[in-house]
This record gives sequence, structure tokens and C-alpha cells, in this order.
Amino acid sequence: MQGLLWLLLPVAAFSGWLAARREQRRNRREPARRLAPDYFKGINYLLNEQPDKAIEVFIKMLEVDSETVETHLALGNLFRKRGEVDRAIAIHQNLIARTNLTDEERTLALLELGIDFMKSGLLDRAEGLFNQVLGSGMYTRQALSNLVDIYQQEQDWPRAIDYARRLETARGKSLRQMISHFYCEQAEEGLRAGDLRKARQHIQSAMDEDPRCVRASMLAAQVAQKDGDTELAIRHYERIEHQDEEFLPEAIEPLGRCYAALGRSAEFFEYLNQLASRHRGITPVLAVTEMVAQRDGVALAVEYLTAALRKRTSTRGLDRLIHYTLMHAEGKERENLQLLQEFTSKLLENKSVYRCNNCGFMGRLLHWQCPGCKRWNSVKPIHGIEGE
Ligand SMILES: [Zn+2]
Repeated sequence: MQGLLWLLLPVAAFSGWLAARREQRRNRREPARRLAPDYFKGINYLLNEQPDKAIEVFIKMLEVDSETVETHLALGNLFRKRGEVDRAIAIHQNLIARTNLTDEERTLALLELGIDFMKSGLLDRAEGLFNQVLGSGMYTRQALSNLVDIYQQEQDWPRAIDYARRLETARGKSLRQMISHFYCEQAEEGLRAGDLRKARQHIQSAMDEDPRCVRASMLAAQVAQKDGDTELAIRHYERIEHQDEEFLPEAIEPLGRCYAALGRSAEFFEYLNQLASRHRGITPVLAVTEMVAQRDGVALAVEYLTAALRKRTSTRGLDRLIHYTLMHAEGKERENLQLLQEFTSKLLENKSVYRCNNCGFMGRLLHWQCPGCKRWNSVKPIHGIEGE
């Protein structure tokens, strides 16, 4: 805080000096004394470590005119960035109260004040300001983008969709992926409430919006299962491979359950084998291994897994290989293997499974909206030696 105030001093001094000169011109017989007392009062507050009072004095000195509007805006933003939102609000409100601003300056100040309110969680007030900005016809994209953010925070999905479409037009850039997730959110609401008709409707809209939306396929499969149509659920899960290969691991476990429920495990085994040959990931390979172990015994499972691991390096694969080999190991070999397994399980312990392609956020849960950067559809299963 102190550092920032010292930076302000020259600006305040200059502005005070300008004010003093104007005053001087207006009344030559009464020379200006305004600068000195305020300026030194401010410095005294600073020296006494009373930055709150100091800032008040300096801001008062920094008269709003066409030359200092930008300084006020910059100052407000600086405070907001430092987390001192109350100060940012005071500065932006002070700016808006002036009558000598141009339309553009006033609109910009309204926009900034809206962002301040958003930061402090006063979403209703922020919403009102952004709508005012929209009415001015200036800074439309910024206002729309903030409104879409607000409606997401309020989980008002119909409005979020409405404003996202307007933002799409204003920007000339597709937001279909995000809009599709807004429909998925509503489909989930339907699923939670047991309203399958609502869920189906929104899933269809999500698919229309973005045919590659994996989440829509997963939701459609869940609805089909609630309907008792396991066959249809399988078709939805199997679509994921073609929508976004990176999400394939998500589909395998539920698919296994669906095939098992229909007593068609042999068919699933065939499908998994195809997946394992088409994709680099380890999840299909491990699923095949598991089935071989149950059907044909551990020795064949080990043989299959060893061959597969020659083509892809994977800690999870190695861990499973040790697990199966241990089943028939004895004596010194067993001890060595146990040591190795301790090592691989340590490597895998608490390992993040998902990562955001945009900000690098990592976690063990799949989030459709990144908790770090708030982007939609950017968190995906991690691939590579220690991941998928
Ligand atoms: Zn992120």
C-alpha cells in the first residue's frame, strides 16, 4: 500500500498544482494555498502509517477533468487487481458522479464499476450496470461477456445461453462448445429432478449445438439407462470414441457394466480389443487384461499385458503387470516384485488424473468447467507414461 501511495504523490502534486494555478488565475488577489496544506496533510498521514486517510486526501486532490480521467480509471483498476475492491468502487463512483465526462468515458467507468461489483459478489448491481453499458451501444462485447459470467455464476442457464448467443454475434466467433455445456447443465437439472423429458430435450439441444459434446453423450446414456434401454446407452457411450478420443477412458467402465447387464461380455471383449489396437491409451488394454485373467487365467493375461506394454510405456500398466505376476511368485522373486510394486503404487498415489489444457489445473475429478480458469471442456484425462 505504501509503495503505491508514493507513486501517487507526483500525480497528486501535479493535479494540485494545476488546480492551484486555475484558482490563481481566477483570483489574483488571493494566491492559491490549496496545494500545500492538502499535499502535506497527505504526506503526514502516510508517515503516520494512516494510508486510508492519505488516499482520501490524494484522491480529492486529483480533480477529475479530461486529463485525469484515465489516471482515475487506471488507479481504480490497480486497486481492484490488488484486491482492494472498496477503493476501486469509491474511485469509479466518484468518476461517474462527474458531469464533465464524455459518453465514452462514462460508459467505461460504468463497465469498470460493474466489474468491481462482480468481484465483491454484488451480482445484481453488476448486472444492472452492464445492462446500462449495453444500452449505450459502446463496450458491447465486454458487457456481454461479463453478463454471461454472471448468469453462469447464478446458474441461470437460459439467460446465459441468450447472452452467449448475442456475444457470439458481437464477437463473430463461435461459442457453441460453451453453449452446449449450458444445455448439459439444464439436462443434469432434469436428471436430478427425475424429469427425463426435460433432460432429453436439453441433451438434444446440446448435441445440435456441438455434435462433439462428450458430456451430452454421457448424459444421453444415463437417461437411456434410467429408461431401461441398455442397448441405446451402449450406442451413446460408443459415440464418445469418435467425438473426442481423449475422453475414451471415461466410457469404458460404464460400457463394461452395460454389456455385462445384457450378458454380452464376449462382444465387449471384441470391442475392447479393437479399441486397444486403435488407441494409444492404457485403459482399454487394462480392461482386456482383466477379462483375459478372468476367462483364460492369469498366465495368459500376463502374456497379453507384457506384449501390450512393449508398444506403450505406462506406469499403470506396469503396476498391473506386477500385480498379476505376484500371484504366482515365490521366495526371492516375490520379495523383489513386492518392492517394485511399492514403488509403482507410490508413483501412482495421489496422482492427478485430469489436467486443464488451458491453465494447467490438475485434479482427480473430471470437471466440465475448469475450477482454475473457468473455461469449459478444457479439463481432460492426462495422457502419457504416468497417465492414460
Ligand atoms: Zn483451466
